[in-house]
Amino acid sequence: MSSFTMARTMQAAQVEQFGQPLVLREVPVPRPGPGQILVKTEACGVCHTDLHAASGDWPLKPPLPFTPGHEGIGIVVALGSGVSAVKEGERVGVPWLYSACGHCEFCLAAQEPVCGQAQFGGYTRDGGFAEYIVADPDYVAHIPAGLSPQEAAPLICAGITSYKGLKETQARPGEWVVVSGVGGLGHLGVQYARAMGLQVCAVDIDDGKLAHATRLGADAVVNARGDDPVAEVMKITGGGAHGVLITAPSLPAFRQGVGMTRKHGSCVLVGIPPGEFPTPLFDVVARCITIRGSFVGNRRDMAEALAFAAAGRVKAGIELQPLSAINEVFRRLARGEVPSRVVLDFAGG
Ligand code: NAD
Ligand code: ZN
Ligand code: ZN
Repeated sequence: MSSFTMARTMQAAQVEQFGQPLVLREVPVPRPGPGQILVKTEACGVCHTDLHAASGDWPLKPPLPFTPGHEGIGIVVALGSGVSAVKEGERVGVPWLYSACGHCEFCLAAQEPVCGQAQFGGYTRDGGFAEYIVADPDYVAHIPAGLSPQEAAPLICAGITSYKGLKETQARPGEWVVVSGVGGLGHLGVQYARAMGLQVCAVDIDDGKLAHATRLGADAVVNARGDDPVAEVMKITGGGAHGVLITAPSLPAFRQGVGMTRKHGSCVLVGIPPGEFPTPLFDVVARCITIRGSFVGNRRDMAEALAFAAAGRVKAGIELQPLSAINEVFRRLARGEVPSRVVLDFAGG
């Protein structure tokens, strides 16, 4: 480990009980073990996944207590023994895909998010709602020069996930995609889709979010609370979207999204509200529709997603808040009151 001198303790917002407010604690600064690095947090986005994690929404639950946050960006301040992949002083992101085995059939195929040994930042490993994060140097995101840590933060989960999900639709330039849910993931999804040459129809239940989608370049918008949003999308797209990306953390959006998919098109699921949704079997079969899950992306997808932003083609909409505001941010996120992405700002801390 280097001679870097740092505080002995740090602020961290931790989940002690599912469904309870996070507790702001002074905890020891973790030390990087062999092959690990220590990152001093500059900024960390707040993803709806953090809310699912803190609520214990999913079948695989994180061990309590834990520190959420998988959009943490910071500077490498210390190296454990044997680390050569990054250097002190570099700016990195500590993402959802915290680490993977590197050897299984999925890792060999660059499908490491589904590696059976994968660890998840802010879930099975402590994440970025803290002043320091221990990370695996082989899996951190490398933040291009020119992007501030605050604007980079949403890209390392919301950005990569919406970008990869759009790629998984296999829609080609000029074709239609629906982006359902234009919050943290979706407001970036609209921009990636435009940058990829796709026509975009944004769907949300909030007119303010839809107006924002139009400002970001959406060709059409549909309010899912309208009389017949599926029929509206069918009309706009002339028979359904070639690709549908569902980011909405809401089950009704899934059934609707399948209905909005064109014959031989793909409906890609990335939102993960707990539960199940009814699948209209006859329509899916007779219209030859693909329904596909998509889980963040691999390290190459990460580099590509960041490159769009470095080139000025995609820009995260951010609202800065201090770590101490996390419970109020969660309350607003649960009610759909966050316009795009809240980023916890550690600057000056
Ligand atoms: P967010 O709260 O920022 O945005 C959600 C948006 O969906 C809001 O704009 C809301 O108004 C809209 N919405 C709600 N109900 C809707 C409906 N019925 N129809 C259309 N829009 C609706 O959330 P986020 O951070 O963008 O995350 C969204 C979901 O994606 C969460 O479930 C999260 O866990 C999941 N997620 C998945 C992955 C992955 O790898 N698959 C990665 C990140 C997040
Ligand atoms: Zn996320
Ligand atoms: Zn593996």
